[in-house]
Amino acid sequence: MNLILLGAPGAGKGTQAEMICKEFDIPTVSTGNILREAVKKGTELGLKAKSCMDSGNLVPDEVVIELLKQRISEDDCKNGFILDGFPRTVPQAEALDKMGVRIDKVIEIYVPDEKIMGRLSGRRVCEDCGASYHTEYKKPDVCGICNLCGGKLVQRKDDDPKIVKDRLTVFHEQTEPLKDYYSSKGKLVVVEGQEEVKDTTALTFKAVRGNL
Ligand code: AMP
Repeated sequence: MNLILLGAPGAGKGTQAEMICKEFDIPTVSTGNILREAVKKGTELGLKAKSCMDSGNLVPDEVVIELLKQRISEDDCKNGFILDGFPRTVPQAEALDKMGVRIDKVIEIYVPDEKIMGRLSGRRVCEDCGASYHTEYKKPDVCGICNLCGGKLVQRKDDDPKIVKDRLTVFHEQTEPLKDYYSSKGKLVVVEGQEEVKDTTALTFKAVRGNL
């Protein structure tokens, strides 16, 4: 099963991807996490991507398409994958089609812009494995420490409110057209983000199973 999770930054795609990954046993491919890892390691890809990411802009299509292509050709993606944060532009979606990747469902996690700001200001991520937490809605078991790997939880540079505004603009201009792109193919299912993560997850699982 190949799934795409669509949604504004901070809508909770990463968290829902983690939940689907556990429930349905398919890996999550997050281009944001791959890029952050590359930045941390200081690779050539990281150097190319860093300034775009820090300013809330998108990394050029050709760069992300190539890295996605490599990642989904790895063994663990043989039986399917969840794409979190890709595609983010129509050319990226077209590139997936050209690669012959069959997408079963595109699940949009919908959260209005007003709520996004509050959510992102409280977001904390693990600097080692990228797992996502929230100071109010999804607290780790031990304050400041990742439940999954014991790494330190930090605030992402691009979760600064000024950068978040720019990321939302980029989302509306460049990523939202994907809703029409996939809706016209009959693939889009919209999940309304709920106050409680577990309630959103219940809806997401229904969407994956085709019961929403
Ligand atoms: P994310 O963690 O998905 O919010 O991604 C963080 C940042 O990585 C984005 O703001 C972009 O700068 C970059 N990025 C991640 N995925 C993509 C993509 N599919 N296309 C272009 N840029 C991306």
